[in-house]
Amino acid sequence: MKQQQLLLRERPNGLPDENTFEFAETDQGSPEKGEVLLKTLYVSVDPYMRGRMSDAPSYVAPFELGEPLTGGVVAQVIESNSDDLKKGDIVRGNLPFQEYHVQKPSHVSKVQTNGLDPSAALSVLGMPGLTAYFGMMHIGKPKEGETVVVSGAAGAVGQVAGQLAKQAGAHVIGIVGSEEKASYIKEKLGYDEAVEYKKDNFEEQLKNACPNGIDVYYENVGGEISDHIWPLLNTFARVPVCGAIASYNLEEGEKDIGLRVQQFVVKARVLMQGFIVGDFSDHYAEAYQELAKAVEKGKLHFEETIYEGFEKIPEAFLGLFSGANIGKQLVKVAEKE
Ligand code: NDP
Repeated sequence: MKQQQLLLRERPNGLPDENTFEFAETDQGSPEKGEVLLKTLYVSVDPYMRGRMSDAPSYVAPFELGEPLTGGVVAQVIESNSDDLKKGDIVRGNLPFQEYHVQKPSHVSKVQTNGLDPSAALSVLGMPGLTAYFGMMHIGKPKEGETVVVSGAAGAVGQVAGQLAKQAGAHVIGIVGSEEKASYIKEKLGYDEAVEYKKDNFEEQLKNACPNGIDVYYENVGGEISDHIWPLLNTFARVPVCGAIASYNLEEGEKDIGLRVQQFVVKARVLMQGFIVGDFSDHYAEAYQELAKAVEKGKLHFEETIYEGFEKIPEAFLGLFSGANIGKQLVKVAEKE
């Protein structure tokens, strides 16, 4: 039996395009003793994958040319030669982007779906949800009455981060790229205000939305947007630096230069901390419980933008950089059996 894989064909310089990717056919494989055969249900496309397409040193190894991309996958066990997983079980893993996988059960973890579609294991109850939780609750630490600003507010991480700040009693403002997203974060997520950065009067909108300055800035995007944040930071503001998507597609040699931040950080004694979700792995269980409880009680809303079909993975990934997604961007590859 043959299956499709998605390979990295060439390293992009700037924004990836159709030459970055290549589909290939390979054998599906069959499980030996102690192994299972998994069918991919959902693939997660994430901004950090752009970094892995380049060979610059980072906290995670680059993808290899001619090899499958890897990332968050939710899959179902369709054949089991192991006592640890049975046919029908749903698992999540960091797996190659292909339709089937022969794996040892220890390489994946069983997903508790809590009555939700298993896609949630890649969104609100998966890596993006945990990232939002740790950045906001362990670094941002919003307090009642404080002003919190979240960039990338309608995305996978931002949609959760803003709601957590709201639950802590903060006044929460989201920065988004469209009117549709502005409505989404206010009406569905309960953000107090939305600021649209693609409009000419972005700076004025931001200042008007933050008359008392900013106590927590949850940084998802970097670039020019953030230049307008630094002067508004209050004394002892906290800035969890989660991502900087605005600079992920810089061309070779292009520099990411904006307003220098030091004077604002010193003057306001700002705590600015970069982090990756894995830094908090000792606390995954407690964060998962919090998020799952909030979803169950209807206190944490989330959206997923789901493209259908394995061949849609490149389009779904590229859409992250043009703002095509509301909530978590996923690709549905197959139906659950
Ligand atoms: P999103 O679901 O937010 O998708 C990306 C969004 O970013 C787009 O929808 C778009 O929204 C916005 N965007 C794209 N390009 C730009 C740009 N040039 N300037 C401003 N905004 C832009 O992604 P995630 O929630 O998965 O990730 C958000 C951030 O968090 C990323 O920077 C990512 O790398 C980071 N991250 C970090 C982790 C960590 O461990 N530190 C883990 C997970 C994510 P819009 O329409 O509003 O422009």
